[in-house]
Amino acid sequence: MRVIKFGGSSVANAKQFQKVKQIVTTNDKRKIIVTSASGKETNEDHKITDLLYLCFEHKRYGMSVDSIFNLIREKLITIKTTLSLETPIEQELDHLYNELQQSIELEYLVSRGEYLTAKLLSDYLNYPFVDAKDVIFFKFNGDLDYPKMEIAFQRLLKQHTKMIIPGFYGAFPNGDIHLMSRGGSDVTGSILANLANAKRYENWTDVSGILKADPRIVKHPKQIDIITYEELRELSYMGASVIHEEAVYPVKDKNIPIYILNTNEPENPGTIILNKVNQEIRHAITGIAGKKDFSIITIVKEHMSNEFGTIRKALEVLEENQLHVEHISTAIDSFSLVVQSETLKPMYYDLVHQLKKVCQADEITVNHELALIAIVSRFMKQKTGMSGRVFEALGQNNINISLISQTGNETNIILAVTNDDYNKTIQTIYSEFEGEDK
Ligand code: ASP
Repeated sequence: MRVIKFGGSSVANAKQFQKVKQIVTTNDKRKIIVTSASGKETNEDHKITDLLYLCFEHKRYGMSVDSIFNLIREKLITIKTTLSLETPIEQELDHLYNELQQSIELEYLVSRGEYLTAKLLSDYLNYPFVDAKDVIFFKFNGDLDYPKMEIAFQRLLKQHTKMIIPGFYGAFPNGDIHLMSRGGSDVTGSILANLANAKRYENWTDVSGILKADPRIVKHPKQIDIITYEELRELSYMGASVIHEEAVYPVKDKNIPIYILNTNEPENPGTIILNKVNQEIRHAITGIAGKKDFSIITIVKEHMSNEFGTIRKALEVLEENQLHVEHISTAIDSFSLVVQSETLKPMYYDLVHQLKKVCQADEITVNHELALIAIVSRFMKQKTGMSGRVFEALGQNNINISLISQTGNETNIILAVTNDDYNKTIQTIYSEFEGEDK
């Protein structure tokens, strides 16, 4: 059995609904379908989810919601009439509009995007509709309640062999609707793949898999064929986002592969995300990603190597100030801490003062406007000379490296360069290893 999830752009209009039907009917293993709320048709268009959030804000400030609500109405009714569906979506919308005039919970209101889209899709595909509030359960602390979900899901399987379920929300123990974070339908799909012990979880979106680098920086980067969860996490942390970060966890332990596929190009094999990959070296680099605007705090203290606890003291100061440390690198009498400039800014002078005092530092320097770049590959451990090639290529292009970091698991090399060198660094590394895929 496969669980398949369609993102907002895959259900943005009637034409996209037709593509979805084509995909669903070409393989009868595609039994459990999760949908996002209808998304943008064009760049100027709005996602239903965004419009619902906007309705709530308007209502909160006592403004009329009518013009925004009409955009939602129009979008859904156009899909219904174009596809000649029977679902009484007009009544559902009227009902929601009336609820909006009274007091309404934000999470319930916003969840209606997925709910109404799933109603239409259920009608069009002829798949029974199952409300997410009857199968995705949260405890009051927001954690997922797996035992409860298992029971509900097994019960559902006795009633239906196939079903369509709205993504992005579930229910608290008292039945109140609880939303996941934005993009959460990916997580709903992943939870259902877990509950169904699915052979694969197909995540249909509007890109053909994950690319090896940001296409705004590298021209026509190659697509990644297979990526491990660990590699994906490294890349998404550094800004390469294709799927919700939390979507990995429900399928990870069962090693259920996630396929990232394109509704607009269904024959493209996309990218497969797996827990473990048993395979010989296929390529040098899986992907490169990065983020700008970091600061490096360097603490210099003579004879630090003869003392104990200086780094701990510095880390405690950062912890007390709720500042995340992205990376640490150490020398004999100095060490550097990498933090996000944005979070450092409001406490900058005070923090430097505290560090100087607590560490009894001789000197503290802070460099701003730095970018971090992650070069990610599960094969790095087996392949020698990769760092050497990276450094040589950057040296030849006059790119100065401010910091280097690699942990023992050797899945990535992290470099800090100036914000100005950000694009050039990614381009240089990409072209150094380009063409090495088998
Ligand atoms: N519709 C929600 C959002 O726009 C959830 C999702 O699409 O996954 O974030």
